[in-house]
Amino acid sequence: MIDVQQALQLVLQRVPARQAARLALAETLGHVLAEEITSDIDSPPHDKALMDGYALRSADFNGANTVLSVIEEVTAGGNPTQAVSQGAATRIMTGAPIPAGADAVVMVEQTTPVDATATASAMDATGGAPSAVRITASQVRAGQNIMRRAASLAKGETVMHAGTLLRPIEVGLLAEVGRDNAAVTPRPRVAVLSTGNELVPVAEVPATGQIRNSNGPMLGALIQRAGGRPCDLGIGRDRRDELQTLVTQGLESDVLVLSGGVSAGVLDLVPSVLESLGVEQVFHKVDLKPGKPVWFGVLPNADGDKLVFGLPGNPVSSLVCFELFVRPAIARLSGRNADQLATRQARLANDHHHRGGRPTFFPARFAVAEGSSPPDGPANVEILAWQGSADLRTLSHANCLACFPKEERSYQAGDLIDVAVLP
Ligand code: AMP
Ligand code: MG
Repeated sequence: MIDVQQALQLVLQRVPARQAARLALAETLGHVLAEEITSDIDSPPHDKALMDGYALRSADFNGANTVLSVIEEVTAGGNPTQAVSQGAATRIMTGAPIPAGADAVVMVEQTTPVDATATASAMDATGGAPSAVRITASQVRAGQNIMRRAASLAKGETVMHAGTLLRPIEVGLLAEVGRDNAAVTPRPRVAVLSTGNELVPVAEVPATGQIRNSNGPMLGALIQRAGGRPCDLGIGRDRRDELQTLVTQGLESDVLVLSGGVSAGVLDLVPSVLESLGVEQVFHKVDLKPGKPVWFGVLPNADGDKLVFGLPGNPVSSLVCFELFVRPAIARLSGRNADQLATRQARLANDHHHRGGRPTFFPARFAVAEGSSPPDGPANVEILAWQGSADLRTLSHANCLACFPKEERSYQAGDLIDVAVLP
């Protein structure tokens, strides 16, 4: 039987290359950029005020006696019409262009108007500003409260590289440099088919012998977070004809993920149904617990091979196999670099006997020791007392999978083990 690393390599080798697609800006969130982005503007477009206050010449500052005549008022969106000469200042608002001659902005809180009863004509010239102002700041430095033209980015400069995952911040930056669309790696469509005669839809109350289809929604959520676009095909009965119809539908997507029907039961029809439809098996069974019966195959296709995963039906097995094999494939298809779960080390909180036989991924909960510095410093990990692979409830307390190599070993509290962090 192949091991987890071999299986993962076999999956990654079969991930097809993808064509970039151009999306409207509002659709780009969560995609990976497939082009270099250059700016069409300087930002800021002019030297600009970072405070509401007065633009002045720092050389005119003369301690508490500094009184300057106010020559005009400039708001954001406006333009200064006069240069600031010796003894003068311009009332200025955040974002407005700095007038020629001025080399500093003093915030309004560090000034007092000199003529509380400004004349109507003076008010006209300076808007709502006084005709003179006293600077009460203790010092004025050249350049203070001014952001220089192009300090953030210059016209023609590359501001984002291909491969960048577009978060809301990057969407904002695209907007700033005038891009209302971008070339991205399209997120793959991933169909989900939950198989099993015992399954009923979520909204139904299961009769005797039935259970709700929890894998379908869980896999849809996992796919979405991994970067894929899930498409739920619902529940397939363990009947060859029904499965054939649904699988055929699922093979229209880039990836098809099935749950159930890949073990050794009499109604485990998934592998033979897939092969009857031309899906070539790459592997069936991996040296792994839980999740040993996992199946992977490929449907050759001119526009990019279709990847097909048959996950064991037990929810914990499904989750573990998804994280180990499906997530990396979806991440690659989406153009993302980080395609595997982050791993870290943690100290076992309790003694733990690992029976050995297969490498094991146990639902577990780690916590960084209180006050630990750095925050990714030593953590303790508790192996959860789960009731087997069907125990989704206990899994809900997990935030990682504790990884035990295949060898039998009695671990002691305090032993360092690897954990794979669940996102
Ligand atoms: P299978 O892999 O089909 O042999 O299923 C293994 C176990 O997982 C059985 O106990 C199933 O009832 C359970 N199971 C299968 N599919 C699902 C599902 N979609 N949601 C929850 N449990 C499931
Ligand atoms: Mg089944």
